[in-house]
Amino acid sequence: MNSRVGVTGKTRICPHCKTTILESARVCPGCHHHLRFDAQANIESRTQPTFSALRVEGEFRNPPGVESCEYSVVVSIRNDRGEEVARKVVGVGALDARESRTVTLSVDVFTPGGVRPRTAN
Ligand SMILES: [Zn+2]
Repeated sequence: MNSRVGVTGKTRICPHCKTTILESARVCPGCHHHLRFDAQANIESRTQPTFSALRVEGEFRNPPGVESCEYSVVVSIRNDRGEEVARKVVGVGALDARESRTVTLSVDVFTPGGVRPRTAN
């Protein structure tokens, strides 16, 4: 039987940080640890084209005149019908009057099987 994985979107748990990640990931996007693979998967992951579909970055700080505030950073994913398929609080904390935080959201896209996506030029 051919055991080559043909399922797109298959996930597994990162052994280092316990985040749910793509089975095809060579490096955990959460903790940046390299992950062990069998030889075939390793070859596939090396030839896997990757591009960044989205990257948004922003800084926030306390409103003027406020001594301290609390914040929560929430990421949600909706499908093309507007239904929420994932929602996660990725971090909470507090800021004093002089502190700020920068939040970066990035989406990396893979094409399993090594098919390079067409780029608009
Ligand atoms: Zn990890």
